[in-house]
Amino acid sequence: MITFDVVTLFPEFIEAGARVGVLGRALESGILVIRAHQLRDYTGGSPHPVDDSPYGGGPGMVMRPEPIYAAVEDITARYAPERSILLTPQGTPFRQAEATRLASTNMSLLLFCGRYEGVDERVRPLFDEELSVGDYVLTGGEIGALTIIDTVSRLVPGVLGSAESPTCESFSDPDLLEYPQYTRPAEFRGMTVPPILTSGNHAAIARWRRGQSEERTSARRPDLAQRRHLTR
Ligand code: SAM
Repeated sequence: MITFDVVTLFPEFIEAGARVGVLGRALESGILVIRAHQLRDYTGGSPHPVDDSPYGGGPGMVMRPEPIYAAVEDITARYAPERSILLTPQGTPFRQAEATRLASTNMSLLLFCGRYEGVDERVRPLFDEELSVGDYVLTGGEIGALTIIDTVSRLVPGVLGSAESPTCESFSDPDLLEYPQYTRPAEFRGMTVPPILTSGNHAAIARWRRGQSEERTSARRPDLAQRRHLTR
């Protein structure tokens, strides 16, 4: 089982995004638990909104620290998440290795989604770590939170069906993309399936796939191929 407590101004975004497909099934079976918490519930009746203009001037609004502290402290007291994570484009890049690290059974994670121009700097000590889902800026952390929920959850035993293995995919070996996949029909618009795949020779198929993975990685992601070469 894995649990996510998500603090957001848009809980319905998280709930809708997790309701379908593999995540939806995992929610129904209880292997996955997602609680989306409305940050506005933590203003303590204060007339202050959750955001304010930045000291020093500049565009946009910054999220105030008081409701963020109130939310994280309350959720921590109630549910004791094992790790708390701030979503920010300035965080550690979220890669498959981070997903694997976070995907242990009985893990519970708190994810905080920013909006506007981001959060007051003084909330940073509240979190165990900061993660970025890519070198671009989203309007809010919810898509990032769903990315983390999806990627981490599918590595938790029981979330994927037995037929959908997460062990033989792009990044299972951190610097390798998956080999090309084919299904029926054997010929489609003049494009045929490589004969090796219908040979029944499993050792030869495994060798072919390995070679294809390496070629594909070099062609599409020379950065990964180079890192692979160096780590060897
Ligand atoms: N002004 C901030 C900066 O330049 O670093 C960006 C703020 S962004 C518009 C608003 C919120 O979206 C952030 O607080 C964060 O929670 C989320 N966000 C945006 N891009 C993200 C990314 N690449 N990874 C994770 N979270 C992101």
